[in-house]
Amino acid sequence: MIPNLRSSSLLDRQSNKRSDPEYLASLVRNADTRFTVLLDHKPVIVSNEARTEASLRWFTLAELVSAGLVVADPFFLGVERTGGAARFAVAINELRIRHLPAALQLLAPAVDLRSLAMQGIVSSEEVSLAGKAKALAHWHDNARCCGRCGAATHLRDGGWRRRCWSCGTDMFPRTDPVVIMLVEHPDRQSCLLGRSGRFAPKMYSTLAGFIEPGEDIADAVRREVMEEAGVEVGDVSYHSTQPWPFPHSLMIGCIAQATTTELTIDLEELVDARWFSREECRHMIEGTHPDGLSGPGRQAIARALLTAFVEGRS
Ligand SMILES: [Zn+2]
Repeated sequence: MIPNLRSSSLLDRQSNKRSDPEYLASLVRNADTRFTVLLDHKPVIVSNEARTEASLRWFTLAELVSAGLVVADPFFLGVERTGGAARFAVAINELRIRHLPAALQLLAPAVDLRSLAMQGIVSSEEVSLAGKAKALAHWHDNARCCGRCGAATHLRDGGWRRRCWSCGTDMFPRTDPVVIMLVEHPDRQSCLLGRSGRFAPKMYSTLAGFIEPGEDIADAVRREVMEEAGVEVGDVSYHSTQPWPFPHSLMIGCIAQATTTELTIDLEELVDARWFSREECRHMIEGTHPDGLSGPGRQAIARALLTAFVEGRS
């Protein structure tokens, strides 16, 4: 079983304390506190030479400040459940530090989080933590002005709220619900996988789509499968969920039972979709498919759904 990405096991978010600026300031100053850095939304990592193993790089405040970086309004990620040290994230725009060679050197390498997740070279807990920071950073970049009156907004609660200085409207980080479903053939011996033009060559994955206002999860699964593949779905059961910070989604994994089998592919969404036997899916996961086809990346919930089908646990 592949564990879905979650960071709750590592850190206590302390959501009841983070509205106290004094408390957060004392944590920032504490010598045990560590900061992870996102450079243009890419986490700064340390890795072995071949980059087959890596982890987030955790900085002290002194390290960042001595390289000339201004640590204003860091995002509070939480405190360690064991040990109690606080963890923050700092989002930095590379253009703004181009005149600081010491900082550029300190913050290398910064690597795209999706690649790190797909390669599986960073632990799922740390990918999840970086994802939490990345989702927050993306939201802040897009919530600088009030949606109600247009005035500037300011960061509050360690990054978990923004307040409009003019009309006082509070805004909170958004999470977009997405259904992602493994569709089983009526004979239960094969499943439906598709290819988006954005995927790596020869990779197939489960179908997915955003839930729209007014829809429940099963409605969204049935609509998306019909729209993308022309297949009718009957029963829908819940499998598991996974936060997915691209940019700030919650993937809701489901197993869907098809009641029809003929495919009508929406070529604007997918370049291909077809039924795959359980055996073929096993080869795609194990990397032994005779035509070189592959399945979803190691830390994607789609992989957990497909693995459940292959192992007969769906
Ligand atoms: Zn306003």
